[in-house]
Amino acid sequence: MKAIVLFGSPGSGKGTQAKLLTECLGIPHVSTGEMLREAVRSGKGVTPKTAAKMHAGILVKDEVVEALVDERLSRPDAANGFVLDGYPRTLEQAAHLAGWMKGREIRELVIHLAVDYNIIIARLTGRRECPRCGTPYNVVLRPPKTDELCDLDGERLVRRDDDREEVIRARLEAYEQQTRPVLEFFETNGGRVIRVDAGNDPPEAVYQKIRQAMENR
Ligand code: ADP
Repeated sequence: MKAIVLFGSPGSGKGTQAKLLTECLGIPHVSTGEMLREAVRSGKGVTPKTAAKMHAGILVKDEVVEALVDERLSRPDAANGFVLDGYPRTLEQAAHLAGWMKGREIRELVIHLAVDYNIIIARLTGRRECPRCGTPYNVVLRPPKTDELCDLDGERLVRRDDDREEVIRARLEAYEQQTRPVLEFFETNGGRVIRVDAGNDPPEAVYQKIRQAMENR
């Protein structure tokens, strides 16, 4: 059973590393941000209040994400493991997950992607993605070959709704105040935490560091 929790601030590369891990390990990527955006798009399972919070970069209610994650982890494809991305993000969610794990005698491995604040800002403000295939870009750090068009399918790149400057600020504040303490929670509750310096290297190199650290455990 591989229960992996990717931990890090917005823009630390959790989504990118989660994709690489799930491809390699054959376990699903469980991203609360993606699940919530999908729920907002389809208009099912979330209230307008939840959508408004996401739009403003504020965390949504614990019960809302806990229910989404519990349901997702109970599906058959998660029986051999999963990669959690963006959850838990509050102490309440961390306690909820700990209860879930304990009941199943699972111990999670937490991978902390540590990235400098200035790099985070550059990543988030320049971030774009292809609306068709989801390939991520950065107009400064990793630009497409042709001006704002996807290298793979030529689609015009889009900016995520919450990657606007004032919303980025709110998201980083939520991280500092509500999410950072979760790391301490893991450390003091016997969690296995691996810190990976994820600021300066390209995604592939960060991924190699993660695999190396996992093997050394
Ligand atoms: P980020 O790049 O900020 O990590 P995500 O895609 O993980 O973005 O999340 C987008 C938004 O979805 C968050 O700003 C928040 O409103 C909501 N969200 C995602 N995960 C959680 C969570 N575990 N608890 C509360 N809100 C969440």
